[in-house]
Amino acid sequence: MNLSENGSGGGAGAPTLVSRPARPATLILRSARLLDPRKGLDASRDLVIREGSIAELSEPGGAPEIQGAEVVDAEGLLAVPAFVDPHVHFRVPGQEHKEDLETGTRSAAAGGYCAVIAMANTSPPIDSAAVLGSVRDRAEREASVPVGFIATVTREMAGEELTEMAELRDAGAIGFSDDGLPIANARVLRRALQYQRLAGGVIALHEEDPDLSGEGVMHEGEVSAALGMAAIPSVSESTMIARDCSLALYEEARIHIQHLSARASVEEIARAKAAGVQVTCEAAPHHLALTDEAIRSLDARFKMNPPLRSEDDRRALIDGLRDGTIDCVATDHAPHASEDKEVPFEEAAMGVTGLETAFAALHTDLVLPGVLPLELVVERMTCGGEPFGIAAPRIEPGAIANVALIDPELTWRVGEQGYESRSHNNCFGGRELTGRVLMTVAAGRVAFRQRSFAMGVAS
Ligand SMILES: [Zn+2]
Ligand SMILES: [Zn+2]
Repeated sequence: MNLSENGSGGGAGAPTLVSRPARPATLILRSARLLDPRKGLDASRDLVIREGSIAELSEPGGAPEIQGAEVVDAEGLLAVPAFVDPHVHFRVPGQEHKEDLETGTRSAAAGGYCAVIAMANTSPPIDSAAVLGSVRDRAEREASVPVGFIATVTREMAGEELTEMAELRDAGAIGFSDDGLPIANARVLRRALQYQRLAGGVIALHEEDPDLSGEGVMHEGEVSAALGMAAIPSVSESTMIARDCSLALYEEARIHIQHLSARASVEEIARAKAAGVQVTCEAAPHHLALTDEAIRSLDARFKMNPPLRSEDDRRALIDGLRDGTIDCVATDHAPHASEDKEVPFEEAAMGVTGLETAFAALHTDLVLPGVLPLELVVERMTCGGEPFGIAAPRIEPGAIANVALIDPELTWRVGEQGYESRSHNNCFGGRELTGRVLMTVAAGRVAFRQRSFAMGVAS
């Protein structure tokens, strides 16, 4: 299945995104504020979805009833193209006690996502067509939102021997990444880039120099000095980005840099793009909204890799998102069991969940204070599939319906009513956020609706 008829994974033999079958939706969202930044659409309309496709945008209150259609009074609500997350961890196979495809895609749908791209650092890693085939089969039974699967660049993620990239592409890999780990050996990455040019599918890179990161558990700066913790300098990331952009330029290959966290990294990407490198990149809500000051609490929910950095780094990420140096928002949703997190900060696992809070966090911390316009945040959240060949959803007649319906004024306490994710390591847990997804239509199907959110059915 694909997000839209004309969306394309580019060249692969197998369809790129997989999900379980469900009944196509027929519904009318009455008098919603329809916002599709790429189309320049911002108007109150009735949005009519018929048999899973957007049928029409009518004057508010003007759409005729359709027999059997669900009718939503959406006055005061926001309907946007649903979001696409290029970077999640669903722990299948091997660690289903943290997350599986059913809970992971439910969490995605609850956050307004209509498609996600799942990383390959599972156990075992997705490094063969057999493992890839088995997770795709499971997604066909369990996933309520279409999932694209990444395959690893190196066998067993050992950083040495390349996987069969062409065979993995034919088996449906949407791209390649050893995320969780960098590809430390430049010769290995160079060869992977040569194969990428032939096999297609972008190579996504977790950028970190293992020698510079060492045993670090947080950002190197004033806070780590005050707490006396081993730390990860921002140059651990930026020097690897510089190296890999040079390699991509030399091999004329395409790369996507994951979870930018530092000012120096944004500057490297800007230089590389100006020099003609085929590079895209992403930033995560936690890096856009939080800094290392949060770690003074010693709460392991603020521990992830790359780490929360300084206010200056955060400002640079926001500026990069605004000016397009940073292409898209990615959550790096990384579920962990409570026993891996409820331990002293230094010992806790790296990673935070984020699918259910991404929009609300950015809306609360960046849009409402006037730091970034709503249109820009929505646009950067919808285009996350583009580096992987997945077209951004559109609100236009004829398109497959991929729509998030949001109450922009609803304030809620994160975690108060639990999470759809199996794991609870959300770095916004306990905070009051404003803006909540009430309903998500993904690939023409209603994938999520808020429990308290009722609607009428026309007879
Ligand atoms: Zn990573
Ligand atoms: Zn990751």
